[in-house]
Amino acid sequence: MYRRKSIKVSMLVVLSIFLLSSFVVSASAKEMAKAMAPVPGMVNTVLGPMPAEKLGITLMHEHFVFAYPGWFADATIAPDDYKEILKIDLDVIKTAQKYGIKTIIDATPNDTGGRNPALYKDLAKKTGLNIICSTGLYTEHEGSPAYWMTKAVWGMDISKMMSELFIKEITQGIGTTGVKAGVIKVGSSPKMTVYEQAVHKAAVMAQKATGVPIITHTEGPTGGPEQAEFLLKEGADPKKVMIGHVSNSKDIEYHKAILAKGVYIAFDRIGLDIITPFDINVKNVAELCKAGYADKIMLSHDTVNVWLGRQVVLPEKFAHAFDNWRIDHISKDFIPALKAQGVTDEQIKTMMVDNPRKLFLGL
Ligand SMILES: [Zn+2]
Repeated sequence: MYRRKSIKVSMLVVLSIFLLSSFVVSASAKEMAKAMAPVPGMVNTVLGPMPAEKLGITLMHEHFVFAYPGWFADATIAPDDYKEILKIDLDVIKTAQKYGIKTIIDATPNDTGGRNPALYKDLAKKTGLNIICSTGLYTEHEGSPAYWMTKAVWGMDISKMMSELFIKEITQGIGTTGVKAGVIKVGSSPKMTVYEQAVHKAAVMAQKATGVPIITHTEGPTGGPEQAEFLLKEGADPKKVMIGHVSNSKDIEYHKAILAKGVYIAFDRIGLDIITPFDINVKNVAELCKAGYADKIMLSHDTVNVWLGRQVVLPEKFAHAFDNWRIDHISKDFIPALKAQGVTDEQIKTMMVDNPRKLFLGL
């Protein structure tokens, strides 16, 4: 009897030491993440922390290089060429800078192809452009879920594992490059899958630990309100959430339904007229500005300067479908068209300068 009791007591002691130590470890990991996260008011650019006040005219969602997962299986036929990539990206940046663009956010997540911190650093150093890069994971059908899903099968907490990755890339850097991610990027299918829920949950955990904004990919003309709702339910700060690709929808009521959640929205596929024609995007943004939403809207193109792997050969009838999908399209064509619809200079500044800054500041 006495012996059994003492075994019980010693087991209890061991258990409580274990629990206490894991609490101390997780508490100190959390404290460490907080201490190494961007200081309030600062943003992680690829060259180091910068005051959010210096962001200037910002494109919130572009890609210097992109590929769908699996491109590397074809690399024997189509290897990537760093010098060529650098040259193309430098030309694009030069064009952007002609129009006063000061900051570009590269929204490439970890599990597609093309995220390249060393390239971003080179580009930023050579041009003076502020580049902010992402940590995050893409959708189930266009990302690389297999690695995570096999772990989930064995009961591992993949949201926790993903959040550890995001937090480390924000607080300590990506790989050994020393480049720290400045935003968390997630994506969801028209109906969010269980895997995507795990990713979104991880993004919120990482935001809570680091204060970094979450930017998103949505698909089809749906999914935005549900995505915002899920992020907020998990405890994301609505002022640090930008729901992306809302320009996939032509319906202003859809945009308003997302805005009703208190988050930012991004018309960030301006120039992809094949999804939504130019005039409809102009009309919708102008109407939303008139309705008082200018302080919640951001604009970008979702351009891809370089596609890794073999290039898509377009059929003749689509030969000009992507003519407007350019880094200068908003500055050159979209903004003048908005102004012609009554959008003021002040509202343009709000969308291109103030809202990106406020997203990072959580205002
Ligand atoms: Zn994108």
